[in-house]
Formats: sequence, C-alpha cells, structure tokens
Amino acid sequence: MVSRLPSRILHVDGDTFFASCEVALDASLSGRPVWVGGGRRGDGIVIAANREAKRFGIHTGMACFEAKRVCPNGVLAKPQYDEYRRLSKEMFQIMEAYTPTLVPMSIDEGFLDLTSMDRHVWRDTTVPTAADYVNDLRDRIQTELRLPVSAGLGRSTWMAKLATSAAKPGFVEVPPDCEQEFLAERSVSELAGVGKRRERSLAALGALTFGDVARLPSTVMQQRFGIWGQQLWLFANGRWNEPLLLEVKDRTTISSNTTLPYDEPDYAAALVFALSESTRMIGQLRREGLQTRELSLTVRFTDFTESGAMYRFDHPQFRNSVINTVLEGLFDELMAGHAQPVRQIRLGFNNLKPLDTQPTLWGTTDAERWGALDAAMQQLEGQWGSDTVLTGAQYALRHQNVTHSNPKPKCPFVPAREMAQKLWGEKLEQLSQHHGGISKR
Ligand SMILES: [Mg+2]
Repeated sequence: MVSRLPSRILHVDGDTFFASCEVALDASLSGRPVWVGGGRRGDGIVIAANREAKRFGIHTGMACFEAKRVCPNGVLAKPQYDEYRRLSKEMFQIMEAYTPTLVPMSIDEGFLDLTSMDRHVWRDTTVPTAADYVNDLRDRIQTELRLPVSAGLGRSTWMAKLATSAAKPGFVEVPPDCEQEFLAERSVSELAGVGKRRERSLAALGALTFGDVARLPSTVMQQRFGIWGQQLWLFANGRWNEPLLLEVKDRTTISSNTTLPYDEPDYAAALVFALSESTRMIGQLRREGLQTRELSLTVRFTDFTESGAMYRFDHPQFRNSVINTVLEGLFDELMAGHAQPVRQIRLGFNNLKPLDTQPTLWGTTDAERWGALDAAMQQLEGQWGSDTVLTGAQYALRHQNVTHSNPKPKCPFVPAREMAQKLWGEKLEQLSQHHGGISKR
C-alpha cells in the first residue's frame, strides 16, 4: 500500500532578485533605492527595483528615465548577468543542503520537497518546527550571500507559491487543514497559469475568488475547464495534495544541520554529538550505496560566528573508522583557540560516489589496495583519457547510468537538469562540488 503523507512543498523565491544582487555586490547601495535597467546600455526599462525604490512607485516595466525623474537620488544599475548567475548558483547550493529534492524554476526561484522532514528532521527536538528550518535556510542565504529570500510552505506547488506571495517579504506556512480558509478571499488571478482568458471564464461563472470556485459544483468546473478545472476545484476546497514530481536527482551530498538543545560549553560533548551525527549519516551513505570524497564541518558559536573546515579524502570513503577519525582531527583543529559555547554543528559529505565493492588485487590493507588501484587508474587515464578503465561494477552500471542521465520528464516543469544547464551553464550534479584539500572558512 502506498502511504499518502500530506506533501510539504517549499517554494523559495528571491526578493527583487536582480536589484538585491546589486546591493549584495556593492554594500554602499544598502538602504538606497536601486533599480536595474534593461536594454543593451542598461537604460531601457526597469527590470527589477528593490523595496526602497518601489516606495517611490518604481516598478518593473517603467522607463528608466521616468524612474530617475520620480526618484532622483536612486541608483540605476546596469545588469551584471554573470554575477546574478553566480549568486543564483550559490543560493541553490545552499538550498540543496536542505532537501533531498530540489526543482529550480527560474534564476531565483525553486521548489524543495520537505515531505519526509516530519519524520526525519523536526521529529528531533533540536529542530522543532518547519518554520525554524525554513527560517534557518533564509538566514543562511541572507548571511552568506546577503540576498533576501521569501518562502511559502504548502501541500502543493500551487499552494507553496501562493504562500510565498502572501509572505513577501518573509515566510508563511499553510497547514493542510487551513488551506480553504487561506484561499477563501484570495483572487483566482493570483494563481500562476490562470491567464486572462480563464480568469474571464471564471468571472462569467461568478467565481472571482477561490472561495467562489469552492462553492461551484465540481461538475461545472470539470465541464468548463477539463482536468485543470477539476484540479482547481479540489485545490479551492483544500483537497489538493500533490507530490513534488520530477526526475530523481542523483544525490551528490548528504548533510546534517543541527542546533544543539542548549549552547554547549563542553567541546568534548559537542564532539560526541558530531560523531554520532556523522555515524548516522554514514548509515545513510551505506543504505544508498554511496561513499564520500569530502567531509565538511562547520561550527556556529553562541555569538553566531562560525568556523568551518573541509577535508578531502584521497579515496572515497564509507567506513566509520576512517571518516570519524578524520572528523575528530578536523574538530580539534577547528576548535583550537575558541572558547565560546557551541550552538550549531553542520556536517556535510560532499562529492559522493557510488560504492564500488569490487575485490582488489594489490596490497594487504584496504588503504593500500585503494591507493594502488587509484594510482594505476590515474596513470592509465593520464595516458588514455578518462573512461578508459572501468571496474566490473562500473561497467555493469554503465547502461543504467545512461538510462538515468536521460530520464523521461515526468512533470510539467522544465526538468531540473535542463533548468540548471540553462541557468548556470552547468549540470545540477556539479552544484554541490567543492574545492579539494583542507580549506578553512
Ligand atoms: Mg523573485
């Protein structure tokens, strides 16, 4: 039997994204009205205006000279699309750590599946609610990239998006049993995809709000608008539950982000906590048939300062003993010289590889075998190019990989991979790849 958990879909959307990027790139613009001009010379129409500029009535589509007239002290910024794309990519990298499933929708907007979080994340008392979790995500984007984002959480992509609009700027959660109430007075025109034509047809039926739609007989909606009408009727009645459908993303990272129940002054205790988290994550690695190439650790202290480090293994690892030994060393190194209590610990396994348990021919210890194999592979690949050498398992997986890299789109959205390619010119898998060696932040 298929269990039907109510879906929890999070929509995250950058606030006045291009204008916010300009402020993020130039701190001297902070607090000032800023708008970004389109056209080749950046003096055509306004393509984004921040909140300060909007107070002067500046809006998207207005001519730049008009904007300057109503707000002489405002700043016109010429668009820097490469920088926007870079910031967008970094924003999605952060979002990726918060969900097993991320669907980018545009340069500053995406859906995150949080359906299983009830059971796996905020069941623990350390992350008590969805709101804490989402606000932590928003805070990180704000702190690390200086970009404000809003978010909405609901049972479908439609609901999540409407929640974001209601939230801007901020976060709104619509619990499953409050949907009808949340929608009742809202105009159907707020729903993306309604369009002028459908809006007029709905108005002709007397349906201006979702509440009006809910009161119509479902058969009328179905006859007039087909499947879409049926869906809209269910939605308006708070009965539309929709899983976030998309191609399954190959996992490239496993992470954990935990605020300790109280600020921990005892570093030995904090280490024990980190090790137990890491052991749990190693279990997940094993279950998913993966191993990790990189381990990252970030510790946030009481005063919200952070210290972070990353370790790159010579060979992908999946063993407790190896990973936890490195973690312990990393932790000691990181905490040296610190005295503040620990507030939060973030752990990441990045650059995940499929677990390959082929027997090996060289060396007596595992490390020697892997080392010898890796050296030999690199030598061969150096001579003949990559993909020359395949282990048995890799060979067997080759066909499967081809299938996986060309999945049939299962959703009406632009598939995540294509979207990533379009937005950032690279593959979604590459989003979470980091640089090698130990690096301190
Ligand atoms: Mg936006």
